[in-house]
Order: sequence, then C-alpha cells, then structure tokens
Amino acid sequence: MAATGVQLIPSPEEIMQILKRTGAFREGHFVYPTGKHTAHYFQMPLAFRYYDTARVLAVALSRKFRIERDIASQLPKVAIISPSSGGIPVAFGVRDALNAEQIYWAERDGGKRSFRQYVNQGEINPCIVVDDIIRSGNAIEETVELLHNLGAPVIGCGAIVRFSSAPDSTEEVPVKSLVEYDEKFYQSSADCPMCKQGVPEEHVRF
Ligand SMILES: [Zn+2]
Repeated sequence: MAATGVQLIPSPEEIMQILKRTGAFREGHFVYPTGKHTAHYFQMPLAFRYYDTARVLAVALSRKFRIERDIASQLPKVAIISPSSGGIPVAFGVRDALNAEQIYWAERDGGKRSFRQYVNQGEINPCIVVDDIIRSGNAIEETVELLHNLGAPVIGCGAIVRFSSAPDSTEEVPVKSLVEYDEKFYQSSADCPMCKQGVPEEHVRF
C-alpha cells in the first residue's frame, strides 16, 4: 500500500525548514547566560505561535510515542508532562494527537522546579514528558525526579529538538526527538570565531 503522507514523520531537514521559516531557528552570534558563545539559537515559541506549525510539530512528535506498544496500550490513561512553560504548547498538541487524559506542567519557583500546589501522589497517570527543546537535559531530569516523588511512572520522553550533547535517555526511557542538533559552543570570547570577525553579539536568556 502506498504511504499516505499524513502518517509520515517529517524528516529532520523538514523540521529544520519549519523552524527557520518561523524564526525559531536563528543564525548569528549569541551569548548564553553561562558566557558560552554560539552561532545559532533556538527560540522555539516562535514556531508554536502559528497554530498550523504547532500542530505539525506536535503531531510528528506524538507519532514517535504512538508507535511504542508500551505507550499505545496505556492510552488514553496517560499524562503528558511539560517541564516548563516552553513545553506547554507541545504538551497540549501531543495530548490532542494521542487523546491522552491528563496534562501537567512544572514551573520554576524561586529556583526550584515544582508542580502546582495540590497535585497529589497517586493522581498522575503514567507519564510522557515532552519539551520544546532539550539543551542540557537538566529540566527533564528534575521533572522525572518530581514524578518519581509523586509515584508516577515515566513511559516516554521527547522534544522537538535535542542537542546531541544532552542525554539521550532518562533512567527508564529513551529521549525521542524530531531533530538532533549538534550545537558548537565556544567557552569564551577568546575562542569564538564570530567575536574575532566582530559580528555583533546578542545575549540570550536561556
Ligand atoms: Zn563570540
């Protein structure tokens, strides 16, 4: 049977085209709060501001989960979890595509990641943790720990983009992504080629 386009997961190149077109993938000279310099920056919410684009990205990611028998067999009694505000549109899109029952998102409050008050032990379905981008993996790691403390099993994890320097699995599951991006970081201005060329720098917040 001929493949019907709608069932395909877009290639990493196609995803990158979407991210470039929407301004989510940016090229230039960026300085992170850590002081590291790079030639690229992902501002993922710019792709999620367009409903159609958001839907394409979330549906594509959802397919990576649906093909897992362990996940498919537990639907719809599954919770989609976002580690931060950036992952919330991803979580809602993936929830729609999988018809999962619950959504939760964590927030950083006074430097500590947590769910809202009154989210209780035993209420959270088996979890799929999704984010827009995984740069270091810290947000995912902290969120998985929160879920363990609440007694909720993690059955899936993924993001639209994962830096290849970030972990490719949690304790329990592999981290799925639509794009694996090999970002080159320069530790300081001294070894940054854009600094040497005098390219104006932009400071990014995450
Ligand atoms: Zn630089």
